[in-house]
Amino acid sequence: MSHTLYRKYRPQQFADIHGQVGIITTLKNQLVSGRTAHAYLFAGTRGTGKTTTARVLAKAVNCHTRAAGMFEPCGQCPSCTDITAGRSIDVIELDAATHTGVDTVREEIIENSRVLPTRDRCKIFIIDEVHMLSTSSFNALLKSLEEPPAHVIYILATTELHKIPATVASRCQRFIFQPLALSVMQEKLRAIAAAENVTVADSVVQKILAVSGGAMRDAESLLGQLLALHADTITDEVAAALLPPSSFSETIEFINRLHASDAVACFTLVAELFESGTDLVAFHDALLRRAHELMVCGATGVVPRYLGIFSDDETQQLLGATRALPAAWLGRLIAQLVEKRSLYKTIASPFLPLHLVIATTIEAAPAQRPPETKQQTPTPVAPPPRVEPNSVTTISREIIERFWPQAVQAIVTEQPSLGIVLAATAITDVRDNQIVLSVRFPMHRERLIDLKLKTRIEARLSELCGATVTYVAEYDPDLMSHDPNVAAALDTFGGRVVA
Ligand SMILES: [Zn+2]
Repeated sequence: MSHTLYRKYRPQQFADIHGQVGIITTLKNQLVSGRTAHAYLFAGTRGTGKTTTARVLAKAVNCHTRAAGMFEPCGQCPSCTDITAGRSIDVIELDAATHTGVDTVREEIIENSRVLPTRDRCKIFIIDEVHMLSTSSFNALLKSLEEPPAHVIYILATTELHKIPATVASRCQRFIFQPLALSVMQEKLRAIAAAENVTVADSVVQKILAVSGGAMRDAESLLGQLLALHADTITDEVAAALLPPSSFSETIEFINRLHASDAVACFTLVAELFESGTDLVAFHDALLRRAHELMVCGATGVVPRYLGIFSDDETQQLLGATRALPAAWLGRLIAQLVEKRSLYKTIASPFLPLHLVIATTIEAAPAQRPPETKQQTPTPVAPPPRVEPNSVTTISREIIERFWPQAVQAIVTEQPSLGIVLAATAITDVRDNQIVLSVRFPMHRERLIDLKLKTRIEARLSELCGATVTYVAEYDPDLMSHDPNVAAALDTFGGRVVA
């Protein structure tokens, strides 16, 4: 049921995608103007819609009946229906978590890219969890990204952007998928429940969101399990059968008692939890999460969204508790919890790891803490700087042309022969922050696409323009020496055209 529910409500067109408004608008505009990129990198945490967006984009690009100036796929043509069913010949989905060998990448991507699409407009490769590729696989992929065939689009998706080599990332149009807003997730869960004619209590929706930690796919899966109970109304009582009871208040209470060096209260709480059927390993993990949350909230004065989803009551509890808990003490508690966590595997007693945490933490606390520690008034903390969602800034051709000579100047000084190459090169187009350089001689093109040189020029140019700017070099024997750009380049570099 949970899987069918997830598939049933998976967005099939842009209008169905919740959240990620900036990214969706950009993609729609690209489709309308016919200027989709050759390589995309979708980064973001679990369940933020990366693969869903990739599939809808693939569908729109290859849709047989999508009219010019429109962005939505029709959903009816052979290409659309095949992508929905996951059997399109021209849209190839790979999960790098299971395809890490360089040979697979070569076979599936490099070899396949050379072949023209079988039936549809483009061959589209969606590579999920792309950070799992080996270094040699990335190198193989990089070769295709450097000179993507006109009929190929790569959509790379990752939860770990920092593991993507800069050379690969810089050749892709990057989109950062933000965690979905609480309201967006609530709205989607309610829409699904309404479509299934089931009433779900607000408190149950809250619990689903808290348990799923903000991942939409997990939230939908949990809702699916609840709907499978076939109740007309899902109340807290009905949900209790499936959703683990929250131990939020107990974790806060435990940490407070521990900080007060109240060993008796801590031992008693652990015993009570065990008797009430609470899994102590899960409680241990919840304590670890809570201590981390308290440390972050204490330092920032807010409950950042990346920590997870909290009800208003939980937010108040977190912010209230941080006032009495010094960050250094929480840090030591976290270290203790991490260290003792592994003991569950080796020791039969379910109590011992937590008992050791209690004993060690209280032992380490100063015998007589100054009384003001507990009544300490909170220090006003400045809110953290707002993090703007990443977006792709489009740099105009004018700006790029202005900075281009500056970007190559230092390298030309080191390698004067490069000046000659550039003198016979012209910027003939700029699309989506990618420069098209036309060169008169094939050997000049070879020189310009040398990876080391290209990376260096692109890095400098990107720095000057304040956005990632790349270039491709195209051989154009008809590029005339009287081209104004060539003339300007000649002036800049003092070269001459060898006719
Ligand atoms: Zn279609």
